[in-house]
Amino acid sequence: MAEHELLAATATETAGLIADGVVSSDECLNAWLDRAAEDRLNGYLWKADRAAAMRGVDPDSGAPGAGVPVAVKDIFCTTGVPTTAGSRILEGYIPPYTSTALSRLSASGMPMIGKTNMDEFAMGSSNENSAYGPVLNPWDHGRVPGGSSGGSAAVVAGRLAPWALGTDTGGSIRQPAALCGIVGLKPTYGAISRYGMIAFASSLDQCGPLTRDVTDAALMLSRLQGRDEMDSTSVGIEGGVELPSAVDLNGLRFGIPADLIGEGLEAGVRKVFEQTTAAIERLGGSIESIALPHSDHGISAYYVLAPAEASTNLARYDGVRYGMRESEDDLVSMYEETRGAGFGPEVKRRIMLGTYALSSGYYEAYYGRAQRVRTMIVRDFDKAFGQVDFVVTPTSPTVAFGLGEKTGDPWTMYLNDLYTVPMSLAGIPAISIPAGTAGPAGGGPELPVGFQIAAPAFAEQSLLEAAFALEREIGFEQEPQEVER
Ligand code: GLN
Repeated sequence: MAEHELLAATATETAGLIADGVVSSDECLNAWLDRAAEDRLNGYLWKADRAAAMRGVDPDSGAPGAGVPVAVKDIFCTTGVPTTAGSRILEGYIPPYTSTALSRLSASGMPMIGKTNMDEFAMGSSNENSAYGPVLNPWDHGRVPGGSSGGSAAVVAGRLAPWALGTDTGGSIRQPAALCGIVGLKPTYGAISRYGMIAFASSLDQCGPLTRDVTDAALMLSRLQGRDEMDSTSVGIEGGVELPSAVDLNGLRFGIPADLIGEGLEAGVRKVFEQTTAAIERLGGSIESIALPHSDHGISAYYVLAPAEASTNLARYDGVRYGMRESEDDLVSMYEETRGAGFGPEVKRRIMLGTYALSSGYYEAYYGRAQRVRTMIVRDFDKAFGQVDFVVTPTSPTVAFGLGEKTGDPWTMYLNDLYTVPMSLAGIPAISIPAGTAGPAGGGPELPVGFQIAAPAFAEQSLLEAAFALEREIGFEQEPQEVER
């Protein structure tokens, strides 16, 4: 089998080729390790050799997906392998244990190709907050891949990995998937164990697949999900996940939150969104207008809650237990200098915001109020799902923007998360699929546009079925042109 055919296959197709003996799992791993070695996107922070890739992997598992190598966001702890979470403060940290999510993929026979670049502690929407340099978008090297799982998205879109594992706290799987023209699924909060996933905002963090297509997302999810004794918030879902097969959307109702689709939405993105809702109707689905009246407060609530949780989660990086240590003169200067030198500006901003929001005297006004807004957003979705089966929006208000374009203004950067944050606050599953391309507002090459579908908690199977039928109807086949700058 020619190597370019192997590299063009989806993960599910590759698993089939291995199972049928067309290609051996060894050949497959070698081909992908060679590809990863050619990374020009700064997508990988660490690359495996054969021995490291196979550590903990059961090559004869016979499980679905066995033999297909996977790239892993550098936020998952990996025994014996550096894990930085994109931060200087964890430089040199080698965890003594492996996250449950990755252990499950290894047990299913999937070798790990490498650890992917990311925004520091998963805080960001462009990957420009990585301490190890930005990731380049494979469609246009002058643009961001999205974030925070930008490395995972770029290596899949740039054919440097068959598929990848990412995490999503407020959009970090879906938004980079959209900006890179691939599929990204954030499962229901609790569907997959968070054990060994470095914490950003624990009530929101959830891992999930970044893949070439919806079938691959279903396949990886089926290997990942389930109850884990090591994470009390993980839930065992009955019945598992099947590979989707729906051919139409007959009788299904899709709701558009009228109050969210407006300001800040690029004309090209709006056009692709409208074409996609027309495709839903061609498949027999109906489009209805729904109200999510509190979702436009989602960003404000999220940017209080997530920093609040981050400020406590990141208190552990003090020079004592993990990674770097600056100054050993006395305890306080060690804390201060380690944290001063180890954290980047966005992480510091959020620790300050979060600490302030949690301080006595301000707690009720900020954290308490944001929690109440979160509850209202949850109720809005509950009500909407009484009327429709799915909620649909664009994934991101814009296509991939230029490197450096939004770094000067955090608020503009935060607005990228307008459509993804409400689902995170509600804990419900949502998928982004590539729906077409559009030119950026300021002119430039055609870039991918993502379409987001959200479903009620634990309705992953029907979400995947709907996304699968729609994906076929859209027929998105474009490949990155790798415009170099
Ligand atoms: N962009 C959002 C943030 O900066 C979401 C990040 C994420 O989902 N990890 O917090």
